[in-house]
Amino acid sequence: MLDEKDWFTEVVDTAGSAFSLRIRRKLHAEQTPYQSIAVYETEHFGNLMVIDGFTMLSSRENFLYHEMLAHPVLFTHPAPRRVCIIGGGDCGTLREVLKHPDVDQVWQVDIDERVTRVAERFFPELTESNADPRAQLLFDDGIRWIRDAEPASLDIIIIDSTDPVGPAEGLFTADFYRNCMAALTEGGLLVQQSESPLYHMDIIAGMVSDLKEAGFSDTRTLFFPQAIYPSGWWSATMARKDRAIGDFRRADVDARPFETRYYNADIHAGALAQPEFFRRRLGGSAR
Ligand code: SAM
Repeated sequence: MLDEKDWFTEVVDTAGSAFSLRIRRKLHAEQTPYQSIAVYETEHFGNLMVIDGFTMLSSRENFLYHEMLAHPVLFTHPAPRRVCIIGGGDCGTLREVLKHPDVDQVWQVDIDERVTRVAERFFPELTESNADPRAQLLFDDGIRWIRDAEPASLDIIIIDSTDPVGPAEGLFTADFYRNCMAALTEGGLLVQQSESPLYHMDIIAGMVSDLKEAGFSDTRTLFFPQAIYPSGWWSATMARKDRAIGDFRRADVDARPFETRYYNADIHAGALAQPEFFRRRLGGSAR
C-alpha cells in the first residue's frame, strides 16, 4: 500500500499495526503466474522487495535474516555437505550457505524464476555467488521437488519461503515435513522461517506439532530481530531427524573462514534462549 506521501506501508490487520518505509520511487512491478513482485527505492533502507504486498527484504537489513537462516543450522550439523534451499529466490540465503567451504552441493528450488531475475537486477550483492559451481538454481515447486528427492540425500533443508499462504501454504504441513524426513540423511536438520513470535505464535506452535507428527525427534526455535517484518521480531525453527538438536560447533564458528555481519557464536547461543511465554506454550518441545 502506498499513500500520497510516498510511504510503503504493510498493515497487519490482526495485530492492529503497520510498518512504513519512506520511498523515493517505484523501481519495478510485475505480476508473475505465482505472485506480484514490486521493488521500491527507499529513503534509508536501500532497495525494498515486496511480494503480494508483504515486505520480503531490504538492502539494509536482509543480512540478519539470511545469516540466521543459514549459519545456525550449518554449524549445528557436524559435517553438512549437501544442502537444499526451498524458496529463497532472492539468493541471499544461498550466498550465506556457499560461504561454508565444506558444503559440496546446494540446490535452490524456488517456484518463481522472476524473483531471482528481479534480485539479480536490484539486489546484485545477494546473487554474487550464483555462478559458484556448487550451486544449482532450480525453478520448481519445492513441495513437489522434496517429494521426489532421492531418499536420505540431503544433510540440511532450509525453507526460506513466503508466509504460509498461496504457493507457500503447503510448506507448513505435516505431509511436507514427512517428505523432508525421507529426504534427509541420518542426523539431518531442517530449518524454516517461522514468522513472528509475538504475532504468529499459533503458526509456530502448529509447525512444531506438525514436525513432531512427521517424526522429527527434536525442534528448537531461534529468535532474531528483523526490522521490516511485522513486529520487528522474527524466528526460524530447526528440527532434527533422529536425535536431539544438540550443541553447535562453537569452535568452528569462532574459526570460520568468512565474514558475517550479525552471526557469531554468542549470537547463536543467545538466539536459542527461549522466552517464557514460548516455553509455556510449547512445553517440553521448546525446552
Ligand atoms: N525472507 C522472506 C520472507 O520471509 O518474507 C522470504 C524470501 S523469498 C523471496 C520467498 C520465496 O518463496 C519466494 O521467492 C517465493 O517464490 C518462494 N516460494 C513460495 N512458495 C514456494 C514453493 N511452494 N516452492 C518453492 N518456492 C516457493
